[in-house]
Amino acid sequence: MAEFSLHLSDEQKQIQDWVHQFAVDVIRPAAHEWDEREEFPYPVVEEAAKVGLYSLDFMMNGMGDPSGLTLPVAIEEMFWGDAGIGMAIMGSGLAAAGIAANGTPEQMIEWVPQCYGTPEKIQLGAFCVSEPDAGSDVSSLRTRAVYDEATDEWVLNGTKAWITNGGIADVHVVVAAVDPDLKGRGQASFVVPPGTKGLSQGQKYKKHGIRASHTAEVVLDEVRVPGRCLLGGKEKLEAKLARARERGKSGEKQPAMSTFEATRPAVGAQALGIARAAYEYSLEYAKERHAFGKPIIMNQAIAFKLANMITEIDASRLLIWRAAWTAKNGGFTHGEGSMSKYKASEVAVRVTEEAIQILGGYGYTREYPVERWHRDAKIHTIFEGTSEIQQLVIARAISGLRIE
Ligand SMILES: Cc1cc2nc3c(=O)[nH]c(=O)nc-3n(C[C@H](O)[C@H](O)[C@H](O)COP(=O)(O)OP(=O)(O)OC[C@H]3O[C@@H](n4cnc5c(N)ncnc54)[C@H](O)[C@@H]3O)c2cc1C
Repeated sequence: MAEFSLHLSDEQKQIQDWVHQFAVDVIRPAAHEWDEREEFPYPVVEEAAKVGLYSLDFMMNGMGDPSGLTLPVAIEEMFWGDAGIGMAIMGSGLAAAGIAANGTPEQMIEWVPQCYGTPEKIQLGAFCVSEPDAGSDVSSLRTRAVYDEATDEWVLNGTKAWITNGGIADVHVVVAAVDPDLKGRGQASFVVPPGTKGLSQGQKYKKHGIRASHTAEVVLDEVRVPGRCLLGGKEKLEAKLARARERGKSGEKQPAMSTFEATRPAVGAQALGIARAAYEYSLEYAKERHAFGKPIIMNQAIAFKLANMITEIDASRLLIWRAAWTAKNGGFTHGEGSMSKYKASEVAVRVTEEAIQILGGYGYTREYPVERWHRDAKIHTIFEGTSEIQQLVIARAISGLRIE
């Protein structure tokens, strides 16, 4: 078990500095443009691939760190740069995590590298769970997976909603119902390889924030994937389904749920990066902006806002680091992962709103970045489990009861 420490190792500090510098030099200068364009920022992600930030190695290094802190530290810096571009860089990681959580070692070796491609030719991954009628309630997925014994293929049909990199990804990981009667316990995850017929992009959403990140529907129309694309393999799935049918419950988590649980501290770190960006910016602004003959920070009303902002930001970081460490060292016992994501997301929304207030009229315009940070922060209370779902997870964990 790794020691929990607030002192980052030399390697972690190096990674932190390296990502921060990339955020300063490449991400921040591009943020406004790609927010306005509302398009996937290929040139920026290609730059990230060239330096090794958009790469399997980077993710593996982060995920392999026994203290768990490398990834949240790096993500905070990336999202400090820009959340839309940050999501464009991190989005493939969700598909990779979905494969790693449910796949066999052979499947990981085959598919995870394809979620990133190479610096010469980047590839993208998408993790497709949510549907128009099933977001928080992932047990009600309607997308069906039916096995065709004659060809040893799985046939997928359905529509996925709000999918990051949906339709533009090379590798789509799709969670589908194999036995809908078993609800969440009757689901399995499948890899849909690049270029598979029948998978197409539906509508591309126009969004409130993280607009450089591509979000779209994914339509699956008679999509046929080889048997080896079932993550975890058929034997394991059949055993799980049999147990679920026999006992009425398998005791195993739904595939989508296990992915989201493991990635929660990382999502908290995204929100933290945005919050810190807004805090730092508004602190400097408050020292320079004069009203009534003195810097506005000389008013307690402004100075106390900033004091509260940094207190909440530091509290969020402590929860995130604890959760990231706990995930690697013994596992969550009372919803620590959810706590970290819940706290950091809510803090990011409040802090970015306060930042707008501190900048006054300028803060409300697109000439200054704080309104973008506010729009970008909001997604964190919604995706990968809304704030209410995080509260539910925590409430169930602390009570041992199936709170509705
Ligand atoms: C930009 C963006 C990117 C996304 N990327 C992905 C992706 O890559 N892959 C993917 O699979 N999905 C993705 N999503 C989907 C996202 O995870 C869902 O939108 C989210 O889980 C919420 O589901 P919903 O929208 O159906 O809301 P609903 O589940 O309909 O919830 C609506 C409201 O009701 C509340 N609510 C629901 N159930 C309860 C309950 N039991 N108790 C209390 N309150 C409740 C919710 O908290 C929320 O406030 C993305 C969404 C967005 C907007």
